[in-house]
Amino acid sequence: MSDEPKRDLPARRVERRLIKIAGAALRENSANPERIGCPDPSAVEAAVRRRLNFPGLVDVVDHIATCAPCFEQYNRQRQRLRIRNAGTAMLGCVVLLVLGFLWLHGPAKGPNYKEPIAKQVSAPVLIATLDYRSWTADRSDQPRPRPTEPPHLTRARLDLTIMLPIGTEDGGFTVQFRTSTNESVAEATGTATWDGTAEALKIRTDLRDVPAGRYNVAIQSRNSSVRLYPLVLE
Ligand SMILES: [Zn+2]
Repeated sequence: MSDEPKRDLPARRVERRLIKIAGAALRENSANPERIGCPDPSAVEAAVRRRLNFPGLVDVVDHIATCAPCFEQYNRQRQRLRIRNAGTAMLGCVVLLVLGFLWLHGPAKGPNYKEPIAKQVSAPVLIATLDYRSWTADRSDQPRPRPTEPPHLTRARLDLTIMLPIGTEDGGFTVQFRTSTNESVAEATGTATWDGTAEALKIRTDLRDVPAGRYNVAIQSRNSSVRLYPLVLE
């Protein structure tokens, strides 16, 4: 027999071996079937859960080590606790797996949501111009006759340049596409600058979902009243 310590044994295996050896010795030498001087079951429970602040824990441990019935009780409870802890860890893993599955395959990433996004990205952007240079702004309180037929515009994703009447100043503008009942169906903001030939207001808008028909383009800077210009969407 070798006295060399087995350093490579994991702590839990060492503990299990000791308990097995001690248990066998106890059953032979310290049966204590009458259970004389046995502590309360809650004291054994405290030893199982290693509650170091339990009053008189050292005495309880000493008793368990020398009393076969208490030692059996200690062993059973210890085993139950280990299974319960393993179960809790397992439950944690299952919850993580379910959350991971929902993250990957949940409703927010379902095919119903993918389609409109794909459609939006793949639709081409048309470059278009609306020329209102020769138009007089139509203020709602001062209707005026039209000089010509209103400009036409394709209902699409648009990179739109609106050429404003001479005399309009540079700056930020809000543009709304309004129905004849003055209801806004699309809105965008942009900046107007002099491009050498006209005051050009550039906006990006998406008119694919707007029905065809006659509309008014309502253009307003921060400090001015709304100007309305007619438009036909087709
Ligand atoms: Zn006992």
